[in-house]
Amino acid sequence: MVLGGGTGGTLAANRLRRDLGGDVGITVVDRDDDHLYQPGLLFVPFGLARPQDLVRSRRAQLHEGIAYRTAGVERVELDAQRVLLSGGVTLPYDVLIVATGARLLPEETEGLTGPGRRETVHTFYDLDGAVALERALSGFTGGRLVVNVVDMPIKCPVAPLEFCFLADWYFAERRIRDRVELIYVTPLDAAFTKPVAARTLSGMLADKHVELVTEFNTGEVHGGTGGGQLVSYDGRQVPFDLAVVVPLHGGAAYVDRSPGLGDEFGFVTADKHTLQSAAAPNVFVIGDAAAIPTSKAGSVTHFEGEILTGNVARFLAGEPLDASFDGHTNCFIESGFGTAMLIDFNYDTEPLPGHYPAGIGLPLLAPSRLNHLGKLMFAWFYWHGLLPGRDIPGLGSPMPHAGKHIPAPTPP
Ligand SMILES: Cc1cc2nc3c(=O)[nH]c(=O)nc-3n(C[C@H](O)[C@H](O)[C@H](O)COP(=O)(O)OP(=O)(O)OC[C@H]3O[C@@H](n4cnc5c(N)ncnc54)[C@H](O)[C@@H]3O)c2cc1C
Repeated sequence: MVLGGGTGGTLAANRLRRDLGGDVGITVVDRDDDHLYQPGLLFVPFGLARPQDLVRSRRAQLHEGIAYRTAGVERVELDAQRVLLSGGVTLPYDVLIVATGARLLPEETEGLTGPGRRETVHTFYDLDGAVALERALSGFTGGRLVVNVVDMPIKCPVAPLEFCFLADWYFAERRIRDRVELIYVTPLDAAFTKPVAARTLSGMLADKHVELVTEFNTGEVHGGTGGGQLVSYDGRQVPFDLAVVVPLHGGAAYVDRSPGLGDEFGFVTADKHTLQSAAAPNVFVIGDAAAIPTSKAGSVTHFEGEILTGNVARFLAGEPLDASFDGHTNCFIESGFGTAMLIDFNYDTEPLPGHYPAGIGLPLLAPSRLNHLGKLMFAWFYWHGLLPGRDIPGLGSPMPHAGKHIPAPTPP
């Protein structure tokens, strides 16, 4: 039984079907049939992607022989090995794969769903929000545009930075860049979590005249028709004419109603190398739903898929699990003006300069046109390579070490 028919649920079900054939019955449950290509949300506000091109049928992404049910998950009963769905249906399972992702919780921040919502306070983290923001941006003729991350973890932690870089390009294209102040407000102590990438990204923000405000824990968002301000828990204020806020994230609500399954944020605790849940040996977790110390990204979900589905097969065969998931993460960072950066890292190795996947390949930690083309190609790869669960030569689960080099220490 696979809970969630997004990135992780779809690719896990397809890989299991391919690897185990008809010996195993697979059912995927999701609340609707609209599979959204979430990386495309970044481009909608700038008129670079059309909403209707980002959504396809979930059912159609699943290989033949996989059952699909449209229903909400209400609760998991670990002891009874069954799932309760909306409408009162109960389904038993032998093995459960949790792939219900992360949930946006704007209501957790005072004022974020109040006055000014969808007028001066926006988000691009869901489709309706991205569409409304496109309208707001096209009508914006100057002033303070603040991009804010309320708290970590969030899906695709580089996406708000990409938004800043694209906004710089977008207003330059409209020849009003000199009338727009761009401000990036983050709870982190730097532009990003990992030191080498943080230095590069801070430098890029500075080059593009994007002000960086760090260690800002947003407590309140006061929006209104004419603008507003962010207020941090320690009383600092950041005024804005237009705010783009990435809300707090949590796990799916049913996790809280399923004793033992998750942590206090609704994420599912699991072994970070085997992806077996801490709750029960026959429960595994993939993607954003997992409480493991890696990024919440489609690439991570893809790299997890190989290990997770192998481990489900091993579990069914009574064999020891493979503990080789290394936290591999790989992200294109759109940097504006037809360029993008690429970062590649894992639990132990931070993003470093060099090339991916080997000595010759895509440049790491440096903006390039090639990476921008890679970012655009990712949409095709998502639907035709990643979701069908294909093994892609050169894109296996372990992070490649070839091609990366340690930068010389910076002089004092
Ligand atoms: C703006 C943005 C940009 C991004 N850019 C990138 C990028 O460039 N590169 C990258 O690698 N990743 C990117 N990501 C992240 C990527 O989309 C996610 O990490 C990935 O989709 C995670 O897959 P998942 O299966 O864990 O969750 P999802 O794909 O979100 O799937 C979870 C599914 O569970 C279902 N579900 C939840 N609760 C229930 C319930 N109670 N009952 C039934 N069904 C339920 C949901 O409907 C959903 O279909 C981006 C995300 C966003 C928001």
